[in-house]
Amino acid sequence: MQIFPIASSSDGNSTFIRTASASILVDCGVSLKLLLDALGKDQLMSLDAIFITHEHYDHIKGLDTLARKFDLPVYINQLSYEAKSYQFRNIDNHVLERGVAVSINDLTVVPFDVEHDTVNTFGFTMSEENGPLLCYFTDTGLISEYNKSLMTQADVLLIECNYNEDMLLKYPDYPDDLKGRIADYHLSNRQSLDALEEIGVESFGTIIPAHLSPRTNSPEQLIIELTERFPDDIDKFAIAPLSSPIRVEKRCFNSLES
Ligand SMILES: [Zn+2]
Ligand SMILES: [Zn+2]
Repeated sequence: MQIFPIASSSDGNSTFIRTASASILVDCGVSLKLLLDALGKDQLMSLDAIFITHEHYDHIKGLDTLARKFDLPVYINQLSYEAKSYQFRNIDNHVLERGVAVSINDLTVVPFDVEHDTVNTFGFTMSEENGPLLCYFTDTGLISEYNKSLMTQADVLLIECNYNEDMLLKYPDYPDDLKGRIADYHLSNRQSLDALEEIGVESFGTIIPAHLSPRTNSPEQLIIELTERFPDDIDKFAIAPLSSPIRVEKRCFNSLES
């Protein structure tokens, strides 16, 4: 499986995922030009589908243009679709439901609920036949026990690290109610790193911290926190967005242990 977070912040989100026989985008909160520059025309034209986590603008702003230009099926929850239907003109939408698997060739996608300020927001588990399982987890204010149980099964985790708590508290340009909304519906570095510590970073092959705020977080800040917490596993982390795809593998368990 290849994963390529092309854009990943409060300003726009889109991740390209490719398996042996499927190519999809998760979210389309960027322009067609940016996708074209990142993927090239051939890869863009070979997309099979677009999956939408939720209807916030940073996840859908380029959706209508892309889906119609390349006649791509869009998998989206019905409530999310209805909430922003005026922004989707004649897209080929397919209903995504919690816990109901969708298969695109060798890729199986299963939506699960996360805690966000929308009519509906999904995280996804994505598994490639005979390949790794990815847990895709952004735009949520909390990590439930069920979320953790999904993460423990994953080989690869893409997890939101939206803000540093001190930076959010001290950020001068946000009113208090916006700071409260961010704290309630997005994950801080500390929340995500606490969960990783609890689950154990050794259980993942690759971890992709994602959806960093450009105002109340930075890759440099996050690297300091990751290095403090996980000094021996820092090589496992690849902070989104990336400039090119990374290949992720299924973890290999030591068969001698059984
Ligand atoms: Zn978002
Ligand atoms: Zn959102």
